[in-house]
Amino acid sequence: MRVKVDQELCISCGACIDTCPEVFDWNEDDKAHSIVDEVPAEMEDQANEALESCPTEAISED
Ligand code: SF4
Repeated sequence: MRVKVDQELCISCGACIDTCPEVFDWNEDDKAHSIVDEVPAEMEDQANEALESCPTEAISED
């Protein structure tokens, strides 16, 4: 799977980075973004958890 963060919707709460730091990190605008091209199979559950827990639904599967 691939994930992307809608930069307009991200409110920089940090939940996705706390949940799955292997996939999400801050960018230069202090918004979250995906740091991997393809989510490793063993990280998919955590990435999905992050996707579902985002308060603004900024994360989607790409
Ligand atoms: S959980 Fe959502 S709003 Fe919070 S930092 Fe991640 S993408 Fe942004």
